[in-house]
Amino acid sequence: MPYRRTLKREVGCTGIGLHTGRPVQLLLKPASAESGIRFFRKDVGVEIPASLESLAYFDHATTLQRQGVSISTVEHVLSALHALGVDDALVEVNGPEVPILDGSAAPFVILLHEAGLRPLPIVRQYLKVLEPVEIVRGTKFVRLLPGEGFSVKYTIGFDHPLLRHQTRTFKVTSESFADEIAPARTFGFMREVEALRRAGLALGGSLENAVVIGESGFLNKLRFEDEFVRHKMLDAIGDLALVGRPIAGHLEALRAGHALHAALAHKLLQTPEAWALVTQPHQPHLEIGPQPSLAAQSSTA
Ligand SMILES: [Zn+2]
Repeated sequence: MPYRRTLKREVGCTGIGLHTGRPVQLLLKPASAESGIRFFRKDVGVEIPASLESLAYFDHATTLQRQGVSISTVEHVLSALHALGVDDALVEVNGPEVPILDGSAAPFVILLHEAGLRPLPIVRQYLKVLEPVEIVRGTKFVRLLPGEGFSVKYTIGFDHPLLRHQTRTFKVTSESFADEIAPARTFGFMREVEALRRAGLALGGSLENAVVIGESGFLNKLRFEDEFVRHKMLDAIGDLALVGRPIAGHLEALRAGHALHAALAHKLLQTPEAWALVTQPHQPHLEIGPQPSLAAQSSTA
């Protein structure tokens, strides 16, 4: 039976906040069993649990808040902690944002590998999906279905010639996450970058930490041909981590984003008949195959 895990030792890094453009130091620290993932704003001395109760905004990034103190852009570090199987840890920052680093979760994966993980003397509980739970908004949806382990199928479609349609399915393990999902960077459209800047946002954004999509080409070299859909998976894993337990089930998303991911997480917890807490989520011999209903839509790409 898998046990809860924390870090073997403290690790840290420094980077800039995407929106403020200011330097921020981040430390990942071991924590006691069942304390969960918590952020600590060292500059103001407030702890903010990574839970749905703390969720404040999810516009361009996911922001958590407690006692009027917030921490922004939490989704990439949460995604890495969650996918690598860290149940209990303290994420200490000395400012209002988690550093954006290269815009992906790869630097957090490297930090966690550097820290190493150790088991805690408490058995891990998984939230196993028993019945479908979904949120549909117009042409967008997110849903969780029963499944073994945790897998994600994500489809994006934008009104842009370079980014009409991408779809991907991964069975999420610490290995597949580190190799296939974590390196995918945040992206933005050139036309939106200018609007964000005018609104005083994305002041730290640059080609060092985001893929920028111009009208006729990408302003930087891609890490994967379908880096964009992979990054959406990364975000979804980080947002669903706010449920507070690893999910055993299959996530499907079409043209979703932070708001829909969060709405799904809320609906899941508010639908207790749709899930059960289990200590053995895996059953072998079950592969994730192509899903004809969604595959048909990709013919419009
Ligand atoms: Zn992101």
